[in-house]
Amino acid sequence: MTPSKHMIISSEAIAARVKELGAAISEQYGNEPLVMVCVLKGAFIFFADLVRALSIEPEVDFVRLASYGGQTSRKGRILFTKDMELPVHDKHVLVVDDIVDTGHSARYLLNVLRMRGAKSLRVCALVDKHQRREVDVTVDFPGFTLFDGFVVGYGLDHAERYRHLPAVYTLNEAKPASAATREEAQ
Ligand code: 5GP
Ligand code: MG
Ligand code: MG
Repeated sequence: MTPSKHMIISSEAIAARVKELGAAISEQYGNEPLVMVCVLKGAFIFFADLVRALSIEPEVDFVRLASYGGQTSRKGRILFTKDMELPVHDKHVLVVDDIVDTGHSARYLLNVLRMRGAKSLRVCALVDKHQRREVDVTVDFPGFTLFDGFVVGYGLDHAERYRHLPAVYTLNEAKPASAATREEAQ
């Protein structure tokens, strides 16, 4: 059975926020060399829009993480199923993720990049569920804050469905839409 979906972030709201994030990121790094790392698959559309909203020129690379041994990353072991190809030693690195929820997967990636000698590490995420955090991960450039609910669209899936949708929807049989608020620009 297909669960009902309810739009909570329109494509217009996403586009406006991506423009603001692009300006904030450009201002943060200026002419310093920057590697932007897209966390596949969920961030692929956000990343593609975000890099086009920059007034600086980043290098881009991609990783894919998987967690094993638990239904969520909090119980499982996190591994790369695709690692980066660019070196990050002595470079500023900005991780671009779809959602930071418990924070376990982002923390794993940040720890690896720190060990590889990144000059600085920051995180940009389309959605920051910061009230659900189990480990200390800060999203430096949050797109939107979500308090609860499972969301899909704009790259985000449920069992590989819904990634193509241009807006963000809650997917929930029982509950209606949950609140998403816009963060102030950094
Ligand atoms: P964390 O390790 O922070 O708990 O896991 C974050 C990852 O879980 C996200 O990058 C995303 O892939 C997935 N995730 C968490 N919440 C949602 C959600 O509401 N919708 C979707 N589609 N994925 C989610
Ligand atoms: Mg993810
Ligand atoms: Mg997923």
